[in-house]
Amino acid sequence: PTFEAMGLKEDLLRGVYAYGFESPSAVQSRAIVQIMKGRDIIAQAQSGTGKTATFSISALQVVDTSMRETQALILSPTRELATQTQSVVLALGDYLNISCHAVIGGTSVGEDIRKLDAGQQIVSGTPGRVADMIRRRNLRTRNIKMLILDEADELLNRGFKDQIYDVYRYLPPATQVVVVSATLPYDVLDMTTKFMTDPVRILV
Ligand code: AMP
Repeated sequence: PTFEAMGLKEDLLRGVYAYGFESPSAVQSRAIVQIMKGRDIIAQAQSGTGKTATFSISALQVVDTSMRETQALILSPTRELATQTQSVVLALGDYLNISCHAVIGGTSVGEDIRKLDAGQQIVSGTPGRVADMIRRRNLRTRNIKMLILDEADELLNRGFKDQIYDVYRYLPPATQVVVVSATLPYDVLDMTTKFMTDPVRILV
């Protein structure tokens, strides 16, 4: 399997190669194709498998770059992870001229509002601040097509369940959902049942 065969946008493919990737990892070759078909995905994958690029490439593929509105939302359990993901999205999306802001706690709310008002095609954040920005209507959800929950088991371990369910309620009903989790305990599976339609399960 190759990145070319996945049918990615040309400028995204350029970004993937420029980043230094030559061929897809196992989770990438199995998940990206299914996500591009529009399927909801549960990927049981640990750090080190190439999970971040899996959903970053998928989010970049789904964004219509002619629109400034937020179209993909990535939730992570920590500020560091959300910021790292933002960097990966920006690097892989270098030739797409993508906007991606990290919406995380402990930073200036005013700055978030300014950045979000300017339009951020992809948002990578932590659940608390993201839910806050949605409630304040600075993060508009109407054009969101994809929700990604990274390290879903950790998100729930850290007590973000209510905030994630809050965020989910604001998303358009047809939002495609991608869940990545190292483990699949009951509360993660319960959430996937509520958020997903006939998900494809991938174990790497
Ligand atoms: P992650 O699983 O997201 O923590 O990624 C682990 C590491 O693998 C990161 O340093 C990525 O840059 C790297 N990586 C991800 N996908 C690929 C790929 N297709 N080829 C080479 N390295 C990759």
